[in-house]
Amino acid sequence: MPTPQQSRRALALLSDEAAAVANDLSLRLTGSPEAQRAALLETVPGVIDYYAVGAGTLAADFYDERRQLANVKQAYATEVIVLDRTVKIRRAIAWAAQPLFGPMAVTLQLRLSEVVQPEVARAYRDTVLENRRRDPATAGWRRVTGVCCKFCRMLGDKGAIYKRDTAQFAAHPHCDCGAEPVFQGEAIGPEANNFQYLGSKRRRTPAEKQALRDWLEAEYPD
Ligand SMILES: [Zn+2]
Repeated sequence: MPTPQQSRRALALLSDEAAAVANDLSLRLTGSPEAQRAALLETVPGVIDYYAVGAGTLAADFYDERRQLANVKQAYATEVIVLDRTVKIRRAIAWAAQPLFGPMAVTLQLRLSEVVQPEVARAYRDTVLENRRRDPATAGWRRVTGVCCKFCRMLGDKGAIYKRDTAQFAAHPHCDCGAEPVFQGEAIGPEANNFQYLGSKRRRTPAEKQALRDWLEAEYPD
């Protein structure tokens, strides 16, 4: 049975591989910038979808194994969750293609990897978080951090359990963090504190952003 860290590392490999495949595609582009952008819009969504399904499957398997390990007796059918993000993905690919149209400090490859990697990782986290939401046997979810930034470290600190359905999985490009369900009856860590919930909100007011920055600086020095 893979540990949460092993599952997280498998996700990191998968999402990196997806970015490498998109990178390969981009290096074989020919023709005008418009034609190259059209080719990217034609091919990259398929790459993302293929690896997102893989990441979602990885997460669903991990979810089931965690459930088994927690000795949950109640039946539940875990589902792979890959949300329809067609519009957002197309917009992001068009953004990634901008360097084709003139001199820019960033490269197409850099931007493509910033689009592809998070989209693949998202399917893993969506699968864990959505099943956790639907499954009556869960107590919450926990962030499994890799070698990441201090923001991620703060969000996963003390094995904090996120119980509120409003808590999003905050992530940045090339964030390797995973998610793990936690079940009722398990010896679990503390519930996420106010700052951890604040960092998991979709939108923050300027005052909230400032409070979060101050907290990070005080509690998580470089
Ligand atoms: Zn991270």
